[in-house]
Amino acid sequence: MTDRPPQSVGRRTVLGAGVGFAMGSVAVAAPVALGGAPIDEGSARGGKVNFPAIHAGTERPDAPPPNQAPPTRRVGFAIMGLGRLALQNILPAFAQCKHARPVALVSGDKDKLRIVAEQYGIPASSCYDYASFDQIKDNPAVDAVYVVLPNALHHDAVLRAARAGKHVLCEKPMATSPEEARSMISACAKAGKKLMIAYRCQYEVYNHELAKRARAGEFGAIQFIDAINTQNQGDPGQWRQKKALAGGGSLPDVGLYCLNTARALLGEEPEEVQASIFSPQDDPRFAEVEATVTFMLRFPSGIIANCATSYSAHEHRSMRVLGSQGHAEIDNAFAYEGQKLRVTRRDGMAEASTELTLGQKNQFSQEIDHMAQCVRSGATPRTPGEEGLQDQIIMAAIYESARSGKPVKLAPMSRPDAFRGPMQPEETS
Ligand code: NDP
Repeated sequence: MTDRPPQSVGRRTVLGAGVGFAMGSVAVAAPVALGGAPIDEGSARGGKVNFPAIHAGTERPDAPPPNQAPPTRRVGFAIMGLGRLALQNILPAFAQCKHARPVALVSGDKDKLRIVAEQYGIPASSCYDYASFDQIKDNPAVDAVYVVLPNALHHDAVLRAARAGKHVLCEKPMATSPEEARSMISACAKAGKKLMIAYRCQYEVYNHELAKRARAGEFGAIQFIDAINTQNQGDPGQWRQKKALAGGGSLPDVGLYCLNTARALLGEEPEEVQASIFSPQDDPRFAEVEATVTFMLRFPSGIIANCATSYSAHEHRSMRVLGSQGHAEIDNAFAYEGQKLRVTRRDGMAEASTELTLGQKNQFSQEIDHMAQCVRSGATPRTPGEEGLQDQIIMAAIYESARSGKPVKLAPMSRPDAFRGPMQPEETS
């Protein structure tokens, strides 16, 4: 493609003329009006299409057209486990990915495999069940495996994917114990493959913006974080209510978002945790796993995060950061969409609350693209296996504190963001 010379007579002039002729007596003026100044046709430079702004500088700029890689140059993902998250969120999110595409499926259900393969144009030769999964090593289209199985199955699946020579994106919680998490990290390291944990909130624009502002000191010195993630569970027979498959109840499933997001916002690691657990005795949903957990994280800087999670309270997902000079909160902080960020500060003699509207991006697409870019560039993911291991260690300490009724100390970390890789340039703008 060549660049259009400035002020050239372009397609608009021709279209204008066409419209003009069709309109009979008003035709004479139309080509002049439409063809005179082709101001918004865009330009193709450096392999990208761009458009000049059409609004004044007072308006929020539009996002440029996505600069996406051609399908053959995208990182190919196999999706392992065709459950709710895979079918309702992950596979649809690939439509907005710029660097990744789904190329293979793994499922124990032949009918689901056939239907989903047809929907996403995946050939039968790239569909596997759990018995044939290891053959994926011979499929060059697959660069990475995205593990979307019940929690207790992550460990084995990650080990098998690494043995097959594939990079791995693994759903949260990474595992059901620190020991499993360590063995997943070493299996991927031994295979020379990347391991990323799917902490989508670290790739979500509102959470990212709040962390950026908090770290820049916009709210003064942070004193306190308050994070709540609750949902009321149904069917007691589902795997989330079975300890052997889930590893725990509300804590590893939804409480983990409070823990991980507080850690990621501060960049610090807690040095002490204190927790309480409550599960109603007569509720069959909580025969094996816990209902409600509250936990306090004490960070080396003195900041305290108070977190609460429940499988028996109505859905609520909020995150609040309180600093010496202001506070900010995100409604629906851990939800798939619907985030609202409010910042409150003194404004002269008044207290001012501002609600910020950011361009919404699909957080699953953001997270998958991040992994794809790391595979291509060799960079460490923002949320590598070590990030998941740290959460497993802290969750084990939370359970221990609730059992013993005492605070539990954690090993200090020598530097901030001890495990995290960088965000990609296009993710920080
Ligand atoms: P589902 O129960 O909806 O799906 C799990 C799928 O795993 C099943 O459909 C099945 O797929 C496969 N599977 C294989 N073995 C078993 C087994 N023994 N029991 C049940 N399923 C099995 O779960 P979700 O999709 O909601 O959750 C999957 C993972 O994703 C979990 O780790 C969860 O924590 C995580 N998750 C993350 C979210 C996020 O926002 N990041 C949100 C929701 C979940 P098949 O029939 O194809 O074999």
